[in-house]
Amino acid sequence: ALKQKGRDGWQFFNDYQHHQALQRLNVTLGLRGAIENQELQARFQPILSSDRGRIVGAELLLRWFPPQGEVSPAVFIPIAEMSGAILPIGLWVFRAGCLAEVEWRRRWGTHAPYVSVNLSARQLSDESLVDDMSRVLRETEADPSRIVLEVTETALMADIDANLLVLRRLADLGLRLAVDDFGTGYSSLAQLTRLPVSILKIDRAFVDGIETRHESRAVVRAVIGLGRSLGLTLVAEGVETQGQHLELLNGGCGLFQGYLFHAPMKPEDFVRLMDAQSDFDHGEDQGEESFV
Ligand code: C2E
Ligand code: MG
Ligand code: MG
Ligand code: MG
Repeated sequence: ALKQKGRDGWQFFNDYQHHQALQRLNVTLGLRGAIENQELQARFQPILSSDRGRIVGAELLLRWFPPQGEVSPAVFIPIAEMSGAILPIGLWVFRAGCLAEVEWRRRWGTHAPYVSVNLSARQLSDESLVDDMSRVLRETEADPSRIVLEVTETALMADIDANLLVLRRLADLGLRLAVDDFGTGYSSLAQLTRLPVSILKIDRAFVDGIETRHESRAVVRAVIGLGRSLGLTLVAEGVETQGQHLELLNGGCGLFQGYLFHAPMKPEDFVRLMDAQSDFDHGEDQGEESFV
């Protein structure tokens, strides 16, 4: 295959680039009808508290099922960001999160878990984002204080001054903000204090190395310590082993998410799991809780 190389001529794609370009094209075209054709689905991954391992939240993770099978978000999200398709898709995700919040609060009242949804950098620079989200909140009657928006550290810091204004407006709607994949970027916690952030999610890469690399352990301990002294809630993501869980608990981390506990699951399976927890709770002394 040929691609144009500036004005001075042509260059051949290698097989890998060729495959990438085709994939990007296929995904871009396929995503156009994804909402209309009902090919998007939400999965929920439980977030557990260090207090008796109770489920206090869930992250909404998007799944796409085009006719030819499933495509991973790691593949289609970056492409959707490039094409702009992430804007309608992101709003679909936010609405799905709002609808879940309403349903869960109806089922479990004050014991309902919070809902965490991912927001991409491209959405933050969309001037109609705040109005769109405000409208969806109104239409669904969701409680914004039970909804968390996850933005990656890299996306936040890419344009911190512009993002600051948008994030403040989102916080004014009552929404909570989490820094996702924290530790992978180069921001300082001092910069974070400028943002209306209430949760830090420690990136899986650090959790992964916590038992084997003393650098990872040191970073995680420092992030937990500083985060806590700033009054932030710490969530460890990608917890896969008991050893990791224990080290994080000892370090003072409050919330946990990972395959050790639960993989992302279908909404109906999440409801069943929560129902079982609520049944158990009814036999116990239960206090007032606030998670974020
Ligand atoms: P993320 O937001 O950091 O989400 C966590 C990812 O780690 C999810 O992958 C989850 O399934 C996976 N995970 C959870 N526990 C474990 C574990 O114990 N071990 C391992 N190895 N992985 C674990 P998933 O669902 O494939 O999503 C990948 C990424 O795609 C997300 O990373 C997020 O950046 C993006 N994404 C997913 N849904 C959305 C969405 O609705 N909007 C946007 N903008 N991005 C999304
Ligand atoms: Mg996330
Ligand atoms: Mg994450
Ligand atoms: Mg991550």
